[in-house]
Amino acid sequence: MTTHLGIHGSVERIFPPSLLRSRLVDGDDAPDADADLTVSVVDDDFDGIDALVTFGYDPAVLDSDVEWIHVVRAGYDEFPVETLRDDGISLTNSTGLHGASVGETTVGYFLQFARGLHRYRSDQREKEWNPPAWDETFTLEGETVCVVGLGTLGRGIARRADALGMSVVGVRRTPTPVDHVETRYGPADLHEAVEDARFVVLAVPLTDDTEGMFGAVELDAMREDAYLVNVARGPVADQSALVSALRDDAIAGAALDVFEEEPLPEESPLWAFENVVVTPHASAARSDYPDRIAELVGENVRRFERGESLANQVV
Ligand code: NAD
Repeated sequence: MTTHLGIHGSVERIFPPSLLRSRLVDGDDAPDADADLTVSVVDDDFDGIDALVTFGYDPAVLDSDVEWIHVVRAGYDEFPVETLRDDGISLTNSTGLHGASVGETTVGYFLQFARGLHRYRSDQREKEWNPPAWDETFTLEGETVCVVGLGTLGRGIARRADALGMSVVGVRRTPTPVDHVETRYGPADLHEAVEDARFVVLAVPLTDDTEGMFGAVELDAMREDAYLVNVARGPVADQSALVSALRDDAIAGAALDVFEEEPLPEESPLWAFENVVVTPHASAARSDYPDRIAELVGENVRRFERGESLANQVV
């Protein structure tokens, strides 16, 4: 069987599609000799393509022979899962790859706020020497973080926070223990979970259940000296409620990697807060990402050709 794999141009949003093509054709993770694979970079012409690696969703796949779509991100909220299921198209995602990158970025946010690093960087630009007031800094050791969602991201964050001497509580749907997490709460007890935490991190997928799950009431349940971190998806937090909470000093600040609209529009008030760190959906970035994707896609090409179930299968 010959598999014709297409790499969609939208992958360019993360890395050059041609790089993934070369990894899949000649790299260490190239599917072995029994896989008869042709790989091309495609835009909107899916003629003859059996499997598609993509960043974004293109409805033209529904009128094509594509049998399997791999999305190069963990989140697949843009993909019409039920329609794909009805059309017999398999969907796989890239969860499992972002624990270290997002985990490290998240403790980076914690350290910026605790040690005041974000302020010194702004002062440097102005050539200003502004030592902190005696009560403006704190250490992470002994502080509590509440991680909402304990999948790949949440576990990566919990492990690193624990290593820094922080106490970790978590919110998850099932009560099973998770390494590095001292106390677990169900989603119904979200308020209780966040009320003692110095940091609250959102690390859940965007679904009907999680859209807007962190709004005015949840922000109000947080301590006034606490920080919100969103590395999940923008709509998981209510952005206008967050702006109000920041304006009213109801929380101490926020680190945001994801937004209701991306890129964050120029007129957004979020740009201007000194106590808000804005990053451009960058928390998972790493230069070896194409190799990680090649490994995952290479394994799934082998399974696809053998008719086996795929790794990271959503439908
Ligand atoms: P994952 O599937 O490994 O984990 C998600 C976890 O959230 C699962 O344990 C699931 O049970 C849990 N969950 C779902 N609904 C919940 C709810 N209502 N309450 C509590 N827990 C709930 O996925 P992941 O790799 O950890 O990624 C999570 C999400 O983060 C992705 O779907 C994506 O949207 C986002 N993400 C963002 C970036 C970035 O660059 N900022 C990178 C990777 C992932």
